[in-house]
Amino acid sequence: MKRLIIAIDGPAASGKSTTAKLLAKQLGYLYLDSGAMYRACALAALEQDIAHSDIARLDKLLETIDIRIEYSPDGNKVLLNDIDVTKRIREEDISRLASDISTLGPVREKMVELQRQMGNEGGVIMDGRDIGTVVFPHAELKFFMIASAEERARRRCEELIVKGLEADYETVLKELQERDKQDSTRALAPLKPATDAIEIDTTRLSIEEQVELLYQYVQEKLNKQVK
Ligand code: C5P
Repeated sequence: MKRLIIAIDGPAASGKSTTAKLLAKQLGYLYLDSGAMYRACALAALEQDIAHSDIARLDKLLETIDIRIEYSPDGNKVLLNDIDVTKRIREEDISRLASDISTLGPVREKMVELQRQMGNEGGVIMDGRDIGTVVFPHAELKFFMIASAEERARRRCEELIVKGLEADYETVLKELQERDKQDSTRALAPLKPATDAIEIDTTRLSIEEQVELLYQYVQEKLNKQVK
């Protein structure tokens, strides 16, 4: 059976990664989180104290940076130059810096190149902002997941509380809205649905319902390809 490339795009906390992870497990596909790569890149720049305006040093960094996503049964690991940064890149300072650094052309070029290398063989679900529009415009299936900003902030707070971190709803909501605005209005690869993407509004869906819905679309696609 053909192994598809499945693109899932959408704003922060719209349910992309949780759904993608579970769907990948169900299908025996690889799950790749493209946002984690921008986050790792932002962390590398932060650690080396490189300003986003310092294009010469940024170019040097991009030449040598090694970002890998390693499969692990209890969740993928993100390695930056062989160091496990899986937890660190989820912190709030990195969310903001990732959104800033991802507006830069050289950064996007490098990340897209790595993402294509990782996903080209198929049997992959990649989530992000520009997977269906730029990284894999020929992906066999594209989803664009949305949810109200209030619901997304509520979910993000829940995640933070589970991790034992502080969660102030108003702050989280504001941060999400600011990041979405920057991601949707930037000049390069802005967050937007591909013309052939299937829009899924997850505001009133449980995780199980989201996974089941996408699974049905995948089955439909695979059945059509067999015929
Ligand atoms: O998906 P996540 O929220 O972890 O992504 C962090 C940031 O990385 C996003 O806010 C966005 O600015 C950037 N990003 C991107 N293109 C992608 C994935 C993420 O620009 N494909």
